[in-house]
Amino acid sequence: MTNSNFSDLSISEPILQGLQDMGFEHPTSVQEQCIPTLLKQKDVVGQAQTGTGKTAAFGIPVVQQTDVSISEVQTIIMCPTRELAIQVTGELIKIGKYLDGLQVIPVYGGQSISRQIKALKRGAHIVVGTPGRTIDHLRRGTMKLDHLQRVVFDEADEMLNMGFRQDMEQILSYADNPVQTIMFSATMSKGIQKIMKRYMNNPQTIAIERKKMTAPNIEQYMVEVRDSVRTEAICRFMDINGFSLALVFCNTKRKTEKVTRELQSRGYSSDFINGDLNQNQRDRVMAKFRSGAIDILVGTDVAARGLDIDDIEAVFNYDIPQDPEYYVHRIGRTGRAGRSGMAITFTTKSKRKQLRAIEKQIKTQLNPLDMPSTADVRLSRMDGMMEEVVEVLEKGSLRTYIEQIEGLGDDRFTTIEIAAALLKMQTAGTESEEQAQQPANYDDTAMIKMYFNVGKKNNVYPGDIVGAISGETSVPGNVIGNIDIYPKHSFVDVPGKYVKQIIGGMNQNKVKGKKVHVKVA
Ligand code: AMP
Repeated sequence: MTNSNFSDLSISEPILQGLQDMGFEHPTSVQEQCIPTLLKQKDVVGQAQTGTGKTAAFGIPVVQQTDVSISEVQTIIMCPTRELAIQVTGELIKIGKYLDGLQVIPVYGGQSISRQIKALKRGAHIVVGTPGRTIDHLRRGTMKLDHLQRVVFDEADEMLNMGFRQDMEQILSYADNPVQTIMFSATMSKGIQKIMKRYMNNPQTIAIERKKMTAPNIEQYMVEVRDSVRTEAICRFMDINGFSLALVFCNTKRKTEKVTRELQSRGYSSDFINGDLNQNQRDRVMAKFRSGAIDILVGTDVAARGLDIDDIEAVFNYDIPQDPEYYVHRIGRTGRAGRSGMAITFTTKSKRKQLRAIEKQIKTQLNPLDMPSTADVRLSRMDGMMEEVVEVLEKGSLRTYIEQIEGLGDDRFTTIEIAAALLKMQTAGTESEEQAQQPANYDDTAMIKMYFNVGKKNNVYPGDIVGAISGETSVPGNVIGNIDIYPKHSFVDVPGKYVKQIIGGMNQNKVKGKKVHVKVA
């Protein structure tokens, strides 16, 4: 954030009002530099990462220069992914909230083209699209560029990496008149420079200095830890810091799936996003992450592009990113919008050189950190529990419980000893949970008895348990054996090969409205 004001940047009144609603008080550095230049119709190449405020840096001038009285496409914004297109559209709509009649529409593959054609027919001023679908509309003639004033390429380097060079050039060649060309890119690769030379008119380059690239409110750490215990390390960091939303980056698709399975089998609600998922599947995972239904999202670099969730508390680099630029991109997913964040990179001694290269580029040294021990985890759980105890004490209504304690009757124990015993029982409970969350490999066919912490008092019937298991995991209902329901818990026999899946899929999920805890009985 800078000390200057948006009102110093020749921004019109309705847009200033929109920015106020968005809670933007001062322009970020990239906004301060880009907005005046773009308002003068100059071509600009902005070297800025996600998290710097780059969307508003081009979004504000684009919205301000739109003539809403002309119902024609005046700006095309190209984005590499559907998620980014949706995110950019959302931000532009907010910026233009007080600009009567402004129409911003996203066009991307995977959505019904007829819906988009209808929206385009109704008149769109700004189209935010992925390259393939945008070209498709141009070829079909469902989008006309007679009034096109400017083209923006967001995350241009990523579009080139994804093989969209031809599409990008084609968009520029569709425009009859010379248009203002704006490009944002994290890197200045040869491909970017070629486009600049060929299609841009004396572009002004605006680079956000590297040292400003990583936000100061992200604490950056490195932890030397073997591959085989990294998932466990993630769980412990989640627990001791009380994180509820985190992102894990892996270098390969296969690893995202493996890590997700490991997290699930430890009882953490987790899912993965990688290039193998189709658009629907990606949307579903993203919606779950947004709504908080999953706590840990595991992804590859490309799949997690355009992810704009402000509450991510931690980013784990399960693998060191292959390209230092990716490091900046990854950790920029946390510490957004003024919040603080934690970035933890796992490494080994043999990878020191690779890590040094990153540190050199970001001009920051990563602080070494030890993997938390189980004792650390237990202590932090106790701390958390003590806070809950204080809350309960403050709320009062403890008469019945006090009577129970008094009922212990004799003078053998002090009340402090009784409280300590209760605390021990609680934390010992969590220790055995830890063990249950790391299930052994059971004989595939033998039936294993599993404990569910729901029973008759929760109105649970066998059908509810079968339904929950088959609905929340891919375990078929017909393999589930005997089910015994007791007042407060139930036992369910399942074939050994499904134990991990059931623990991974069912823990934290709800049965009859109650969060369940499942373990081997
Ligand atoms: P971006 O780099 O465009 O992905 O923006 C990163 C985040 O910062 C988004 O959540 C924006 O809404 C937010 N943001 C952008 N500009 C500002 C600003 N001037 N003040 C506060 N938040 C901002």
